[in-house]
Amino acid sequence: MAFSVRSILITGASRGLGLEFVKQILAFPSPPEVLMAACRDPSSATALQTIAKSNSRLKIIKLDIEKDEDIDAAFKEAQAIVGKKGLNMLINNAGYFDQSNAGELRHITRSIMQKHFDINVSAHLMVIQKFLPLLDLAVANRGSKQLNCQAQLVLISSIMGSQNLTYKEGYHTCFHYKCSKSATTMASILLSRELREAGIHVLPLHPGWVRTDMGGSDAAVGIEESISGCLKVIGSTSEKNTGKLMDYKGTELPY
Ligand code: NDP
Repeated sequence: MAFSVRSILITGASRGLGLEFVKQILAFPSPPEVLMAACRDPSSATALQTIAKSNSRLKIIKLDIEKDEDIDAAFKEAQAIVGKKGLNMLINNAGYFDQSNAGELRHITRSIMQKHFDINVSAHLMVIQKFLPLLDLAVANRGSKQLNCQAQLVLISSIMGSQNLTYKEGYHTCFHYKCSKSATTMASILLSRELREAGIHVLPLHPGWVRTDMGGSDAAVGIEESISGCLKVIGSTSEKNTGKLMDYKGTELPY
């Protein structure tokens, strides 16, 4: 199900799920006026560059979410692009999972834990904090045409961060990834409470176990299926399920 909004920004759009979000959103019958694909290194994001050559709605923005100076510069660039209409949707997709480390107690280090928390939690909050004025502007302008709200935050989380479900998987302990994704979901719940009154809905979203560089070739779900499901769920988010952890099939997951 396609939805219709004026502007969207996606982090980590160079490859994997982020790139597929870009492809499927641009293929909507009524695509956004502007879709900002943020990535660490635009010069090596060849897939994005190819799409941008034939689609003027797509703007590639440099954004390493670990770097405050990048967040400041990306904000200014996005502000110049969307102007007074603001930003309708921010999809916080960039993520990190060091799979060379099984993440059991004997394997983890302070720096591995910090790196996962920095990218999967703190960086998203810093990006959201910076971009909030643009989301507020979209609310003020009633920018969204079909969404059930005026502005929306999506945080790509994971079932691996669900305290209820994590016991059911046989996968390694993964202190680093699971604890950080649990915090991604908690951050989303807290954001949903803080931003509800402002008219901004927040969706922590599990995309499934997907065949990307991160998910690996044995993963259960293809990238197209995952993202078309994610987009349906994003389009049906409302005041009723803001802050609820959902999967790409539209099932509410226990946190
Ligand atoms: P990939 O490893 O394929 O892609 C990760 C993306 O994140 C890349 O675009 C990468 O950019 C970007 N990224 C990493 N660090 C930063 C950073 N510091 N600043 C900006 N961008 C960064 O992963 P997926 O596409 O599979 O995952 C996307 C999201 O989905 C992640 O949040 C992940 O945790 C989550 N997820 C994935 C699942 C799966 O099975 N695949 C399951 C559940 C959740 P670059 O190209 O520059 O490295």
